[in-house]
Amino acid sequence: MTEVCPQCGLPKELCVCETIAKETQKIEVYTERKKFGKLSTVIKGIDEKEINLKELAKKLKSEFACGGTAKEGKIELQGDHKQNVKKILVQMGFAPETIIVR
Ligand SMILES: [Zn+2]
Repeated sequence: MTEVCPQCGLPKELCVCETIAKETQKIEVYTERKKFGKLSTVIKGIDEKEINLKELAKKLKSEFACGGTAKEGKIELQGDHKQNVKKILVQMGFAPETIIVR
């Protein structure tokens, strides 16, 4: 059975909503010090309605071989990956000018 995009009504493989969405996000990347002084990298501002946050988190986690979570519109990755996140997101199709690394 073909899955249909709820936004444009096209079959998922023809849909470009996510591609367009990736070019119009305002994404912030920053590190946060957590309990026990551990750093985690936060990726904020991705629109959950347009991008599958869990799927994205999964890809990032395997890319950096780290743990992490996706919730409330934020992805948190264990460790400091601030310098590499942007590059990976761009490789995934996000527009570089939409990603602000703080
Ligand atoms: Zn669509």
